[in-house]
Amino acid sequence: MSSSTKAKLPAEREVIVVDSDSDEDAYSSKRARANTGHATSTVKQAPANTATMSGANLATKNAHLKGRQRFKADVEDARIACQQGLHMHSMQICKLREGGDEGQIEFQVHSRGNCLVKASFLVSESSEYPSNHTFYAFSPGDTPHSKYAEIIGDVPSYPSLPLMSAVERMVSKLAGLQAPSSSQQQVLLPRANEDEEEANEDSENDDYFDYDEFDASQNIGSSVKGNDLQRDFIEMVASGYRPGLIKVGGNEFLLTASVSVISLANSIPPRALVTWDHHLLSSSQHLTLLISGFNGVYPSLNADGKKTPLAESKTTNLKFSVGLCPQYKPGNEQAREACRNFGLVEDRLERATTVPNIHGHQDMHNYANISMDAMREKGPEPKDPGRFDKFALSSSLESLMNRSFLKLVYLRRNVRLEPKTLGWAAAETLLALTEKTQSSPQDVLENEIMLQQVLDADRREEKLARSNPLPHDPLRDSQAGSHINMPLTAFCYLIRRLTLCTRYCTVCHNPIDLEYEVLRPYVCSSNLCAYQYYVMGWGPSLEYEILHNTSVVDLLLSLTYTAARENQLSDPLPIGLGLQVPPPDSARMAQIQKLQAAPRLALVPGYAAPPAPPVNHKAGIVDEHRLCEFDKLDIWQMRVVIGDLISLLPSVNNMKRHLTTKTQLGKIKPALYDMDPTIPKAAWLLLRWCIASCTADLEELVQEEDLVQNVDPVIRQFRFSVGAPDAEAKFKAAVEEGKKTDANCNTYPILYAFHGSPLKNWHSIIRHGLWYKEVAHGRAYGNGVYFAKDGNVSMSRYARSSSEIWKNSNLRPTSCMALTEIVNLPNKFVSQTPYYVVQHTEWLLCRYLLVMRTGSNGQSMTGMTGGPDPAGNRVSATIPLVRLDPRATLQIGLNKIAIPEPGYKLEKLVKARASEFKEDDNDKDDKDVLEGIAWAASQPPSRMGTRDRPIELIEDDDIEMVGVNWASGPGAGQASTSRALV
Ligand SMILES: [Zn+2]
Repeated sequence: MSSSTKAKLPAEREVIVVDSDSDEDAYSSKRARANTGHATSTVKQAPANTATMSGANLATKNAHLKGRQRFKADVEDARIACQQGLHMHSMQICKLREGGDEGQIEFQVHSRGNCLVKASFLVSESSEYPSNHTFYAFSPGDTPHSKYAEIIGDVPSYPSLPLMSAVERMVSKLAGLQAPSSSQQQVLLPRANEDEEEANEDSENDDYFDYDEFDASQNIGSSVKGNDLQRDFIEMVASGYRPGLIKVGGNEFLLTASVSVISLANSIPPRALVTWDHHLLSSSQHLTLLISGFNGVYPSLNADGKKTPLAESKTTNLKFSVGLCPQYKPGNEQAREACRNFGLVEDRLERATTVPNIHGHQDMHNYANISMDAMREKGPEPKDPGRFDKFALSSSLESLMNRSFLKLVYLRRNVRLEPKTLGWAAAETLLALTEKTQSSPQDVLENEIMLQQVLDADRREEKLARSNPLPHDPLRDSQAGSHINMPLTAFCYLIRRLTLCTRYCTVCHNPIDLEYEVLRPYVCSSNLCAYQYYVMGWGPSLEYEILHNTSVVDLLLSLTYTAARENQLSDPLPIGLGLQVPPPDSARMAQIQKLQAAPRLALVPGYAAPPAPPVNHKAGIVDEHRLCEFDKLDIWQMRVVIGDLISLLPSVNNMKRHLTTKTQLGKIKPALYDMDPTIPKAAWLLLRWCIASCTADLEELVQEEDLVQNVDPVIRQFRFSVGAPDAEAKFKAAVEEGKKTDANCNTYPILYAFHGSPLKNWHSIIRHGLWYKEVAHGRAYGNGVYFAKDGNVSMSRYARSSSEIWKNSNLRPTSCMALTEIVNLPNKFVSQTPYYVVQHTEWLLCRYLLVMRTGSNGQSMTGMTGGPDPAGNRVSATIPLVRLDPRATLQIGLNKIAIPEPGYKLEKLVKARASEFKEDDNDKDDKDVLEGIAWAASQPPSRMGTRDRPIELIEDDDIEMVGVNWASGPGAGQASTSRALV
C-alpha cells in the first residue's frame, strides 16, 4: 500500500452510500464504511486476546456436528468471532455474514484498515460439509486486482475444508502478496520458477484500491513525454480512432480512445449490435475506452510491455472503463465519475448482497441499465453531452481488460514461438494455461500438448479473420523492439473482444466450448460462471425484458413450462444456481413418469432412444424450511419442480404492472420480488434463468413494416435475431458460393420455408438451434432438418398443439413454427419433395417464429395490432418485400406469404445514425497534443523535455509551468473545469 492511502477522504465515499434502512445489523456497509475513516461504528479494534484467534480454533469447535447444521454453526461462530475482531496473518476478517443465497458467506479481508478483498464463498453441498464439499468463491466487486482474483479463483481447488480453514488458507495467500518488497513489480515473469514467481508476486502491490480519488497530493510531478503522446495520438487517428486527453487536476490525466458505433457497424453486423444491446444503435454515440491510473506518467509501458521505471516509481496502475459517449470523449466530471465507479459498483453490490432476499441483486444488476431504463420510462430527459453510459457488455469487457490486457501485452512482447510472435488468441490461451496450471509460460510451452493449444488458438483466429473482419493489431504490425502505443493497443484489443463477444464466457472470459452456436453473449458451462450469470444477475436485465419484451418473457416461460410438464425438458437445466425448491409432488411424479413409458420416438427407424436418465430414489431431502436442493433431484423430479414453480409465478403482464407502479420520487423502484412474498425465491430465480439462458434473441413484431405479410393476425410473430456475426457470415458466404454455381440462386439467392415442431421442443430449439437434435419426426426423407413449403403442413402435422399450457400465460401459445431462410440450392438438398431436407446447417438462418395460441373461454385472440381483416389478403404496398423465387412459393394454406426485406428496418436505423452522425472537433487539449504544443509551448526552453529525458518536476509550484493549460481557462474545452474540482 502506498502511503497515500491515508489521504483518502471518507467523506467522498459517504456520498456513495445508498439508502439502506433494511440494513439492521452492525455490519451494514454504511457503518463499516464510516469505520474506515473514524472508529465510530460498533466494530471495535480487535482486543488483544482475540487477535490471535485462528481459523483452526474455529474449524474444530463444532466437530460433533455434520452437514448443514455444522455449516450453520461454523458460520455463526465465524460471524461472532469476526464481530469481536478476527485476525489472521496480520489481516482482519470483517463483515462476515450470510449472503443472499443458501450456503453463501460474504466477508472482507482488511489490511491496515483498508479493504483489500471482498470475497463470497458458496458451499457446493452443505449437506456434505465439512468433508465432501467445495467452496466456490468470487469477489462480489467489479474487478479485484488480478493477483487477488487469482487467489480467490483458486479457492474451489482446495480440498474440502471447514469454512474458517478455507478462509485462512486464502488469507495466508493474500498475506503472501502483501509482504513488503523492495523489488519492483513485473506483470508476469516468463522464466520464473515457482519460488521466484511468488517472490515477485508480492511486488504487485495494491494501489488499485487507493485509486478512487484523484488526489493531487499523490502526483508530485508531471512526467509526460509530450512527443510520445503526440505520436501515439497521431497513430490512433491514422487507425481511424479518436484519441482524447482529459486533465483531471494536479498532473493527473485520463486518456480515451473511441470510435463511433456507426462506423463499427461496418465490421460488426448491425443486427448483432442491436442484439447485444438495443442502445448501441438507438442514438449517435461512440464506443469509448477510458484509461485511468497513469499517476501523471506517460508513456507507462516500455517496448517490452513492462512498466517504465518512471511509471514504477510513480506507481502507475492502469485501469480501463468501457462505455458509450455522445461525443468522442466523456466530459471531465463524468470521466472522473466513471473511474470512481469501480468503488461505486462495489458499494452497490455490497448493499445488494446484504439484503436478505434477492431483490438486492436486482438493484445491483440494474446498475448498468438504470440510467438507460430510467430514460426510457420517463421519456426524453435533457441529454448530457458529456455522459459516459454503461451498456450491456461494459462490465464484462472492463473486467476482461483489467484482468488480462497488460499481461497479454507482456506475453506477446516476450514470448516468441519462432518464427512468429504470439497473436492475441495464442497469448490468451497461454495466459489461461499458466493460470490454470500455476506454472510459468516457459513451462507451459515446453509441454507439447499445451504448446499445440497455444499455436492452434492463433491458427483458428487467422481462419476466423477471413470471414469475420477483426480490428488491426498494432503489436503484430510493429517491430518487436519498437514502442507500444498502449491506448491504441488496448482499444484494438477491446474491439476485437467486442467483435468476438459471443465466443467467450462473459464471466470468466475463456472461450465458450459449446456444441451449438450462441447468438448473444453467454456463459461457459462452469458452475461458478453460471452462478454469477444467473444468480448475481450478470446476464440480461430481467426488468428490462419484462417491461420491453413482455410477450417474449411470457413465451419463454410458457415454453419451459410445457417442456417440463410434457416430460421433454432436458439440457439446459437450471443447475448450479443453488436453487432450493419445494420437494416434488409425488402424484405429479407418477403422472410424468407414465408419459415417459410410451416413447414415440423409439419407433422412428434409425433413431436410438437415449438411455433413460438415472432415477434418484433418495432425492427430495428436505431441510428445516421444507426445501430440497434442486441440483440433487433426478430429471423427472426436476421437471415436476420446474412446472410447479412456474405455475406459482404471476402473469408477466402483472409483473409489468407492478414494475411500472408509480413511486414517489426518491423511493426505490418496486422490486419484482415484493409482488407476493409467498412465491418461493426459487421461482423468481427460475424466471431469471428462463430469460438469461435463452441464447437467441427474440422480439415480438407488431409494426406493419416488420410483420410477415398475409399471416392470420391471431398468429403472433416473433423475430429471431442472430447475434453471432459468425453465423451470419457463414450464411452469407454460402449464399455467395451458391450464386456462383447456380443461375437461379444468383437471381433468387434465398428461399423461405417452415419448420414445425411440438411446443414442448421449443425450449430446447430456441437455445440450441433446430439442427439435427430435432429428430422427433424421423428421417423418412433423409438426414437433415425438415422444412415445409406450406405453413399449414408444418402446423398441422408437426407443430401438434399442446394441452399443457402455463395457466398465467397471457400469450397462451399452443404451437410454434419457424420461418427460415435457406440458401436457394434445392438441388443440393438431401430431398426437396415433399419436404426440403437440408443437411448443411450453415445454409439455414431462422428468421421468424410464428406462435399459434388459444383464447381462454372463447375470447377473441385478435388483439395483436388491430390490423385489417384477417381473412383478406393483406400485403403492404409500401414496404420493400423479399423477392421470392416463383419456384419456391411460400404459403399458409391458400394465403401467399410475403416477407419484408429483413434488413429494411435495420437499414433505416443505420442510415438514420449515419446521416445524423457528425464527428465533433477535437477540443483544445487534444488539438494541442496532436499539434505537439501541449507539453512544450509555454515552458521556458531550459525546462523543455526531450524524448529521452522527460521533464520531471518535484515541487508543486512548478506544475503550472509544465503542462500548458493544464487547468486553464475556458479555452480548454470541457476538460477545463478540472481545477475547480480538485
Ligand atoms: Zn466462464
